[in-house]
Amino acid sequence: MISFDIFGDGKKKCVTMSFDDGHVYDRKLVEVFNKYGIKGTFHLNSKQFGNKPVSTGRARLPKDEVKELYKGHEISCHGTVHYTLTHLPLQNMAFDTLEDRRNLEEICGYAVRGMSYPNGDYDSRTIEVLRACGIEYCRTIKSNGSVWLPDDFLEWHPTCHYSKALDIAKNFIVHKGSGRMLYIWGHGFEIEEGKYDWDYVEELCKTLAEYKEDIWFATNIEIVDFVNAQRNLKITVDNKTVYNPSAIDVWVRVDGEPLCIKAGETVHV
Ligand SMILES: [Zn+2]
Repeated sequence: MISFDIFGDGKKKCVTMSFDDGHVYDRKLVEVFNKYGIKGTFHLNSKQFGNKPVSTGRARLPKDEVKELYKGHEISCHGTVHYTLTHLPLQNMAFDTLEDRRNLEEICGYAVRGMSYPNGDYDSRTIEVLRACGIEYCRTIKSNGSVWLPDDFLEWHPTCHYSKALDIAKNFIVHKGSGRMLYIWGHGFEIEEGKYDWDYVEELCKTLAEYKEDIWFATNIEIVDFVNAQRNLKITVDNKTVYNPSAIDVWVRVDGEPLCIKAGETVHV
């Protein structure tokens, strides 16, 4: 029997990080992620680069630093200026999303297909507008404790906020089950200003990295692409022949054993 309870590189579990707003604290966050081989997705407001509101004193990264800083991670949308999408006429919702995509794509040079909801609010109209704008996933702020894939990636609830993640991560790494995903979200300024500080984040990343043999560290869009490719495998009814029409290597389990079906290949199991 072929099963999909396995992720990229043939790993049993996956972990992804998702941080919003693109403040200067992301410099340190990326440094910690890089130190431990952890992948992050960074949701940015493309018309806020270089801003520092007097009210918060929190500086946004300058535009010319963005491409280099997030290299190896994912740049993702968060609205051009952080409008709450549900407050916008549909045409403006679409326009702002496409404009944000275009601005970010000019910086990073690849198709930006991800997003997180500014201020967390969304509804069924929002989901359909984003889908029409080429957004393939959007993260909510409704931490639900789940380690399973979402029903709809455009309503992707994270497992937990980073400030609650250490205990959850300790349970996650020792759990024997496979096909489990830990999705952690937050903001750089919360680490800088809050109780759960840089030492806490460092310990979290170190704890997860110790189990790297079992964990696929991936960006949000890497998970979406992998899962879509996995679900799009062409499998004969008897489960003996598998064709991977995608451009990425896909892993499955056959009677519990990991098997890689390389991009474009047909495998006889
Ligand atoms: Zn935000």
